[in-house]
Amino acid sequence: MIMHHVQLDNYNTFGIKSRARKLFTFDQTEELQEYIRSNDKSPGSVVVLGGGSNVLFTDELRTTVLHPANRTITVEEETPTEVTVRAGAGVVWDELVNFALDHGYHGIENLSMIPGHCGAAPIQNIGAYGTELCEVFEKLQAVDLNTGNTVIFTSPECEFGYRNSVFKTRARGQYCITDIYLKLSKLPRFNLEYGALQATLDEMGVATPDLWDVSKAVRHIRSSKLPDPGKTGNAGSFFKNPVIEKTFYESLQKRWPDMPCYKISETHVKVPAGWLIDKAGWKGFRYGKAGVHDKQALVLINLGDTTGKEVLELARKIREDIYQHYGIELQAEVNIWDRHGRHIEL
Ligand code: FAD
Ligand code: NAP
Repeated sequence: MIMHHVQLDNYNTFGIKSRARKLFTFDQTEELQEYIRSNDKSPGSVVVLGGGSNVLFTDELRTTVLHPANRTITVEEETPTEVTVRAGAGVVWDELVNFALDHGYHGIENLSMIPGHCGAAPIQNIGAYGTELCEVFEKLQAVDLNTGNTVIFTSPECEFGYRNSVFKTRARGQYCITDIYLKLSKLPRFNLEYGALQATLDEMGVATPDLWDVSKAVRHIRSSKLPDPGKTGNAGSFFKNPVIEKTFYESLQKRWPDMPCYKISETHVKVPAGWLIDKAGWKGFRYGKAGVHDKQALVLINLGDTTGKEVLELARKIREDIYQHYGIELQAEVNIWDRHGRHIEL
């Protein structure tokens, strides 16, 4: 279905008022292939939008927005211990989590309540509470936006990294993911190492948790800390947690002894960007109608009718200040779109 001059307010969780010149919503892969083969293929002529929970529009979109709507979940293969589940790009991620919980499939319960659609999950290798998509990911099918051909990407071909994949680097904007395939376990396999998770299960009085308990604990923590996009527009963590050299971290620690870090390798550590922003005094800060969330400084919020440009200005001010404070360059995790849906660097 093609619609023209579409208001995008309900297509992005930031609640930014923007419009798309054209919105093409499709269910079947063949519909997309036909569209690609019979329309303008110049760079910037199309862009893919899922649930809009990780984008910031800074302008009206003078491009065609492709919106996958296939919401089918199927079990493709099954052994006594594992299943391969296929989900269409339009399946709401949390519906897939609930499907897994209902059927007793382990592996994505820590990723409960992450907004967005399945087609976008590989883009930044979604992660939370010590689990990342890549741990259960088998493969995906995508359509090449230049040729209209389908192509399979295996896990190594996706080049997954920390909140990263090939689709955010050298293949950015080149493919529309149509289906993802996840390998889930039928055997109990929990990852409760993330501090707050075990502590919450303890508070819930659960000694031997099942899938539902873990999901419930995750949902409980998330609801207590993160703004509900239905009430306060936001796109989750605006910045990535920076990964820095251990020796650099040690020099910072002399000045900020309580600066947290998590080991990434023998030479590198991850520093929570939320801590850096909070300690620099930004928590709760307001800039016009944009702001910094008062419970989690990593999240920028829409205080009502902000614009993408205003949020971007705020993000740039924070980035500059963090650099002045600590010498660390923050990078955006959110995809910041110009009028052609091309990513703008901070
Ligand atoms: P969109 O915002 O629509 O798109 C994001 C990017 O993916 C865009 O560049 C878009 O072009 C591209 N894209 C979308 N669909 C496709 C497709 N089918 N094919 C090719 N490219 C596509 N993320 C985490 O990792 N962990 C979290 O815990 C987490 N918590 C969040 C909490 C809140 C309150 C919010 C608002 C966001 C959170 N996020 C989190 C970020 C976001 O939910 C994820 O990145 C999610 O996967 C985005 O899905 P989406 O469908 O909304 O993608
Ligand atoms: P938190 O628990 O307050 O922790 C702050 C940061 O420290 C997190 O970013 C996390 O990194 C890191 N951290 C905490 N414990 C860790 C451990 N045991 N090992 C490694 N790193 C650890 O974070 P939060 O804001 O409440 O978020 C909770 C989880 O949900 C996090 O995993 C976070 O990534 C995820 N989340 C993501 C988004 C998003 O938009 N991307 C939004 C909300 C929440 P990691 O981020 O690497 O886990």
